[in-house]
Amino acid sequence: MSRKKIKIGVVGVGHLGRWHVQQLKTINEAELVGFFDVDSERNTAIEKEFQTTAFKSFEALLSQVDALSIVTPTTTHFSYAHETLKANKHVFIEKPITETVDEGQQLVELAERNQVKLQVGHIERFNPAILALGDRRLNPLFIESHRMSNFNPRGTDVAVVLDLMIHDIDLILSFIHSPVKSIDASGVSIISQKEDIANCRINFENGAVANVTASRISNRKMRKMRFFQPNAYISVDFLEGVSEIYELVSPEVHPKEGNFAISFGTLGEGKNARDIRYTRLEKKEVNPLQHELKLFIEAINKDHPPAVDGKQGVRALEVAKAILQSIAEHADIVNKHWGIVNGH
Ligand code: NAD
Repeated sequence: MSRKKIKIGVVGVGHLGRWHVQQLKTINEAELVGFFDVDSERNTAIEKEFQTTAFKSFEALLSQVDALSIVTPTTTHFSYAHETLKANKHVFIEKPITETVDEGQQLVELAERNQVKLQVGHIERFNPAILALGDRRLNPLFIESHRMSNFNPRGTDVAVVLDLMIHDIDLILSFIHSPVKSIDASGVSIISQKEDIANCRINFENGAVANVTASRISNRKMRKMRFFQPNAYISVDFLEGVSEIYELVSPEVHPKEGNFAISFGTLGEGKNARDIRYTRLEKKEVNPLQHELKLFIEAINKDHPPAVDGKQGVRALEVAKAILQSIAEHADIVNKHWGIVNGH
């Protein structure tokens, strides 16, 4: 049975929106109708580069589509998504879902009421290193996460927690299925007006702990997450698109066939020595943006829940806000101690 082509448009064609336009053009089940952006120079450039239509108004674009991809600054996410869902049309919205948790919840409720899809752009869920893990169920007791990038003024209108760390928060919440018990965080603003580096310790009710660091003022890029669980250590490198698993095994375990490299080694010496199995997993052929947009189109076509739904977007935002709250409380102590008033 041939599936319906979903008519889709993009709102906001800046740095990331341009990639949405490019990738949507590659998806057979999608028909890119055009886009809307407030920047007229950008309109001309994108129209020319991708031979697509720049609509004069958001309403004009909305009237022609089944779905919209919203890639504008976060402050405008709510109003565009709300209008779209109200018109019974599906929404793909970039992360963070909205500025406030209340706005996010309103979008979730509206999507449910109007029975349309709401997917959030937590793109690291589709990083080749994560996809390579396949259906292996991780059961981490401790997670160590580092996301360090070079300074770029883009994105500095919000703290690094909402700009970068929210990717890791979403991933951690997808691996640890337990409510957050407490958070202890600190952050420092160095170049921009908002925190450029932040660290938090998230304690979960099941006893698991995540230690998360994000920085946008690093000399070197690094995007790694390490999982520690009974009998195994898993290292995920988002930049390389590679995951590595070190497991303690009993000597009779044999390597399985598959799309990965396996080797055996020994940890320790003498009678305390344990066999370990090392597995390297990669899935380099995946384009994460194309993959998540394809899943969005598929969710509409097959009427199944989106890969990352609005509720998950709101949950990540809730935890990010709790981290910011903890940072603010910590900053109060620092300011009182050092006698700092308004940053001076
Ligand atoms: P950007 O500043 O490069 O682009 C934003 C675009 O939106 C610009 O072209 C601007 O003209 C347009 N715009 C601004 N206000 C508008 C309005 N009211 N109506 C229509 N168009 C408007 O920003 P960006 O880096 O592309 O980020 C856009 C969104 O994507 C943000 O929410 C950001 O958090 C998110 N983002 C996600 C990732 C990711 O990894 N998933 C990465 C970068 C950005």
